[in-house]
Amino acid sequence: MIIDCHAHAWDYWPYKPEVPDPKNRGTVEMLLHEMDAVGVDKAVLVCARIEHNPNNNDYIAKCMTKYPDRLIQFADVDCSWWETYHTPGGADRLAEATEKYNLKGYTHYLKGDIDWFESEEGLAFFEKTAELNLVSSLALGTAWLPALRKLARHFPSIPFLCHHMAGARVGEDPPYPGLQEILKSADVPNIHIKLSGFQYVSEVAWEYPYSDAMWIVRKLYEYYGPERLCWASNYPPVARASTYQHSLEAVRTHCSFIAEKDMDLILGGNMARLLEL
Ligand SMILES: [Zn+2]
Repeated sequence: MIIDCHAHAWDYWPYKPEVPDPKNRGTVEMLLHEMDAVGVDKAVLVCARIEHNPNNNDYIAKCMTKYPDRLIQFADVDCSWWETYHTPGGADRLAEATEKYNLKGYTHYLKGDIDWFESEEGLAFFEKTAELNLVSSLALGTAWLPALRKLARHFPSIPFLCHHMAGARVGEDPPYPGLQEILKSADVPNIHIKLSGFQYVSEVAWEYPYSDAMWIVRKLYEYYGPERLCWASNYPPVARASTYQHSLEAVRTHCSFIAEKDMDLILGGNMARLLEL
């Protein structure tokens, strides 16, 4: 089974530049069309209540009722653009969203307030995450990783899933301090990495098959092993740089250093385990 662990769908296209078909371009049907063409079984919908889409959690919930066998919803809970970001009551809002949307996980985009993990509110939020048995999908820069390691050790039952290779960048200067933080985080067994965002990691967003980024993927594989890497498309933003299939083949075809049985885990087995499918 192939599971895309990070995709988006929109009621109205949120990205710049504007497109001529904003009401169609981002719909879940477009995503399903891409998935069907290359045999992807399921996708985790990472909700984001951004531009034109303050209702994204509800839109995705509606999609879930239409395509329950294909989609998994990770609701946007208190993300960086939302007015309740790191205001008191996050744990309660997480519990409400979990009940309302029947969640197995949520997504949380962070700004620069790294001490929040250790704050009373932050700890309550992750205590609730553990209690509700949720996957925590985090968008964070590498500056957060020392704090994430501490947090993940404090809550060993929570699977933490870092977006887009946790912010690795080929363009970083040696000795690659950001990448060192990412590799060091492999010491903590409940930290996982999404193998996605080649367009951000590579120096040139559209330069498929991202040969310049492969040494980073190889390092991630070496440090994290086959059970904590999960492939994702990051559709539709990926379409600015490559096709949906390219996002899959960048890993499946071009990461030839990954053993076949490990590839099955990375392309879906790991996510199926985390989601208890
Ligand atoms: Zn995304």
